[in-house]
Amino acid sequence: MVLLPDFEVIRPANIDEAVQEGAPEDARFLGGGTDLMPNLRRGLDAPQILVDLSGVAELRRIEATEDGLRVGAGVTLRQLISDSIVQTDYKVIADTATQIAGTSHRSSATVGGNLCLDTRCQFYNQSEWWRRANGYCLKHQGDACRVAKKSKVCLAAYSGDLAPVMLLHDARVDLVSATGRRSIALRDLYQEDGTEHLLLRPGELLASVTLKKLDKHRSAYRKVRVRGGIDFPLVGVAMAIRGSETCVEDVRVALTGTNSRPILLEGTAELAGREMDAAALKLLTKLVRAQSRPVHSTFTPGQYRGKVLVNVARRMVADLLDIDSP
Ligand code: FAD
Repeated sequence: MVLLPDFEVIRPANIDEAVQEGAPEDARFLGGGTDLMPNLRRGLDAPQILVDLSGVAELRRIEATEDGLRVGAGVTLRQLISDSIVQTDYKVIADTATQIAGTSHRSSATVGGNLCLDTRCQFYNQSEWWRRANGYCLKHQGDACRVAKKSKVCLAAYSGDLAPVMLLHDARVDLVSATGRRSIALRDLYQEDGTEHLLLRPGELLASVTLKKLDKHRSAYRKVRVRGGIDFPLVGVAMAIRGSETCVEDVRVALTGTNSRPILLEGTAELAGREMDAAALKLLTKLVRAQSRPVHSTFTPGQYRGKVLVNVARRMVADLLDIDSP
């Protein structure tokens, strides 16, 4: 650990003030600080200004929309878990949030911070002296990836738990900057590059996320982690299925912990209208294998995580359709 660098904390009262204060290159938005502050302690960033969003009431609202729900970026995970609409109509999201970090973290950790979580790697989330001793890495201060020496891009993994379940709900995010507002699909917020995984423009604030209600789907989120009580996912699978074993109507699968972005699995439309038999499970396995990329960015080898990922996904299908485990 190094001493925290000097910085100024600014507490804006509304979104307009927040984006003005967040515009300088050396400013960072501060949600609950449960990811940012440990990273600053490790010398992974040294901003001059932290724009603390906790006083912005507009960001802390959860409100019903015409066909779904809008969740403010400043809503804490604790607030999300205990919200009555989330509990009733988006239970998978509440269940997922209870699996994030520890109880005390969830009191301050925010939805916005979770969606904008930095990518993680065993060669990056380390102290300054550890990283220096290893010659640093592509994500910070170094010029080579320590996971795969020939890789031109950083392979650090996105490990947030909320994004995959929100992807199942066709999530869109509202982004605000000093120059304007825009709304994009949550999946377009990310790209496959561990160093630049977020496609936020400089100074852009994630203000809220909008979710569509899934009426007839059965959904679940399952993560595998080293410490069951508190840990990031080694792999995380979110799944929503409509239909029955004999005729599946819609299958949505999203992954986390495996790539530098959360993945909404493509190609699952091929499973619609057919029986969930061995051939269908084989197709699902093929899609998961082709689109995920678990590498040795955690202490647990990538090959092992790949196998776990496939097994978790197959078992979830069985559990959600109430059929024998494959
Ligand atoms: P912050 O730390 O405040 O911010 C994180 C990043 O997002 C920063 O770069 C910040 O600048 C940016 N940011 C914050 N808000 C906005 C916004 N509105 N617009 C634009 N950028 C923004 N996370 C998991 O998902 N799963 C886990 O299991 C998990 N376990 C953890 C265990 C431990 C011991 C610890 C310390 C952390 C863990 N975390 C885990 C990480 C973290 O606690 C959560 O992801 C949390 O939701 C982050 O939210 P925050 O508000 O604290 O983010």
